Amino acid sequence: MKRLFLGAFLLCATLTVTAQEKNAVIENMIKEATENSQLEHLGHELLDVIGPRLVGTPEMKQAHDWAVATYEKWGIPAENQQYGEWKAWQRGISHIDMVSPRVQSLNGMQLAWSPSTGPKGVTAEVITLPTVKDSMAFKNWLKNAKGKFVMISEYQITGRPDYNWEEFATPESFEKMKKDRDSLSSEFRENMRRTGYNSRTIIEALESAGAVGIVSSNWSKGFGANKIFSSRTKKIPTIDLELEDYGMLYRLVEYGDKPQIKVVAESKDLGVAPTFNTVAQIKGTEKPDEYVILSAHFDSWDGATGATDNGTGTIVMMEAMRLLKKFYPNPKRTILVGHWGSEEQGLNGSRAFVEDHPEMIKNIQAVFNQDNGTGRVVTMNGAGFLHSYDYLTRWLSAAPKEITKHIETSFPGSPSGGGSDNASFVAAGAPAFNLSSLNWSYWNYTWHTNRDTYDKIVFDDVRSNAILTAILAYMASEDDAKVSTERIILPVSDRTGKQLEWPTQRSPERKGGLD
Ligand SMILES: [Zn+2]
Repeated sequence: MKRLFLGAFLLCATLTVTAQEKNAVIENMIKEATENSQLEHLGHELLDVIGPRLVGTPEMKQAHDWAVATYEKWGIPAENQQYGEWKAWQRGISHIDMVSPRVQSLNGMQLAWSPSTGPKGVTAEVITLPTVKDSMAFKNWLKNAKGKFVMISEYQITGRPDYNWEEFATPESFEKMKKDRDSLSSEFRENMRRTGYNSRTIIEALESAGAVGIVSSNWSKGFGANKIFSSRTKKIPTIDLELEDYGMLYRLVEYGDKPQIKVVAESKDLGVAPTFNTVAQIKGTEKPDEYVILSAHFDSWDGATGATDNGTGTIVMMEAMRLLKKFYPNPKRTILVGHWGSEEQGLNGSRAFVEDHPEMIKNIQAVFNQDNGTGRVVTMNGAGFLHSYDYLTRWLSAAPKEITKHIETSFPGSPSGGGSDNASFVAAGAPAFNLSSLNWSYWNYTWHTNRDTYDKIVFDDVRSNAILTAILAYMASEDDAKVSTERIILPVSDRTGKQLEWPTQRSPERKGGLD
């Protein structure tokens, strides 16, 4: 009896000690993240100093080197792993002025990979696309593009987002505005179709006809927010103007005021640049060949500094690694972080990593990816892994209630077919999960826009995500068992009536932008 009692007591004591130790790691990480956060400083260095991180630019390479140096400062071995090449280009000054009928500096910039105007710039009249009867009429009109800047985007009748109309308009005028906008939109599309071109191919036609530049406006449906993607011109500049200024020029053209603009769009064509993933790891002690992977793409579009796409995901993973190294320096499994290159052009960095490390992919305990903005994590799903409920809920239960109470989980979920880097891993059968954020107007205001800047970061939410990520990584590493990667049987598609299939692994673009 006595012995048994003693035995039970000892067992009990051991359990308490283990629980306390585990707890101590978590408590220490939370305390450090809260009292000595490095997020603000990391954000500053990445976004204010380095800036946009377009694939193939010197700034992208600078960011990779900065990440390696930062990890090494923290005692975490890191390296840049080259996986391919991309057209090397560097954005220079964009400066756009209306010079007639009056002078006004305009809000806009050249698109990524736009050819340079040189420092003197180009001054010319601006015209809009004509309304045409058919492709023959458009062909006849094309000679008018010679020597002109041509505006190729749809005119927007309002620069106020719908939520603003909803708040202040009478219901009647809100309805009327939407109706007018819809009919203008369909007229624009119909006219484009009649030219015989689409919004992409018409650019080539205009350039061949001697236009001196393309003026577009890709409104993101928020005040002052435009999406900034890539140029399609070969020799002439392509610029995007914010809705307000685009609309003003458009009206000046339509009313016959013959506006002229001066565009300075400087850039450098630097040939070809290597592309990288930055990879850092804290080696596992007991199971070094099993991996817990923290994942966030590192590149961005370059209309702004890529603060929420994906600066925030990047600094979450860096801060989580710092916390883990400091309070959990000898993890059971290897904890690896991947800062992937060229996600924006098709998950290229992560696809390359998956393709190049098949032996690692088989031994992945879990991948945690973040890539949709500054918000706190609000949803997670089991990515189609049959037993994901067992381990994910166990790991999540170690995080503070103030964090997990916001997270809606769904199991077994479904495998992501794209969208972000977790899809590259899922396609290879590795349990990869997205830490999905509250949107904070992501789609309209920051995603791929000219407004994706440091001031949009909500650091309390980002801090919560860094703590959550560190705890999930810790729990996944400590788990007694390697997780099951058994997949669910996917349902029959409502749309096609066929059984859905698990996404298949795809090869990355290893030589891009060079056409
Ligand atoms: Zn992204």
